[in-house]
Amino acid sequence: MFILLMGPPGAGKGTQAEKLIRDYGIPQISTGDMFRAAVKSGTELGKEAKSYMDKGALVPDSVTIGIVGERLAQKDCQKGWILDGFPRTEAQAKALDDILKEMNISLTAVLEIKADAKGLIKRISGRLVCKGCGASFHKDFRPPAKEGICDNCGGELYQRADDNEATVGERLEVYEKSTRPLIDYYKKTGKLYEIDGDQEMDKVYDDICGVLKKVSR
Ligand code: ADP
Ligand code: ADP
Ligand code: ZN
Repeated sequence: MFILLMGPPGAGKGTQAEKLIRDYGIPQISTGDMFRAAVKSGTELGKEAKSYMDKGALVPDSVTIGIVGERLAQKDCQKGWILDGFPRTEAQAKALDDILKEMNISLTAVLEIKADAKGLIKRISGRLVCKGCGASFHKDFRPPAKEGICDNCGGELYQRADDNEATVGERLEVYEKSTRPLIDYYKKTGKLYEIDGDQEMDKVYDDICGVLKKVSR
């Protein structure tokens, strides 16, 4: 199964990907997680990515396409993957088309998680992320069993540097301008499915599973 998870920042892509990995046993490729890992290890890639992420801007296409291409060529990606947060620009979508063609893969489904803008700000400002496994929690909507500790791996929870009000506004604008047009691009392929992301997390997942059952029949 080859799935694209699309939707604005805070829509619940990471949260739903976590459930899909558990049930379908395929890797999640999150460009945001990859960039955060590079920032943490202080590599050249990390330094470059950080300068864009801190502003809420997109990391340049050449850099982003390069890391995704390398990742998708790895062995664990042969049977399927969930791309979370890529593509985000037209150039990235075209590059992905080329990669898919070369690997002889066709997308199973593109899931657009839709969510109300006001709610997104609440979600992002209360988001807590695990330093160990990258899982998303929320101080009100998904509080961990033990404060500050990840339920899944026992890792420490932190607030992302870019999850502040100033940067969030910019990220939502970038989504509207650069990423939203891709929805039409994928609509034309007939593989786009809209998911109502303003429901309770498990209900959102039920709807996703409903779509995946339908498309893999
Ligand atoms: P969110 O979960 O809020 O949607 P991500 O974790 O996916 O955010 O991304 C965090 C930041 O990483 C983005 O604001 C951007 O700077 C960078 N980034 C992630 N994915 C991409 C991408 N496909 N292209 C360019 N930049 C990206
Ligand atoms: P994305 O990866 O799209 O940026 P996340 O999955 O990290 O989004 O979710 C953003 C925040 O909102 C997290 O704190 C998460 O726990 C919370 N969240 C995710 N889905 C829901 C939902 N359906 N209802 C309420 N809160 C949610
Ligand atoms: Zn964890």
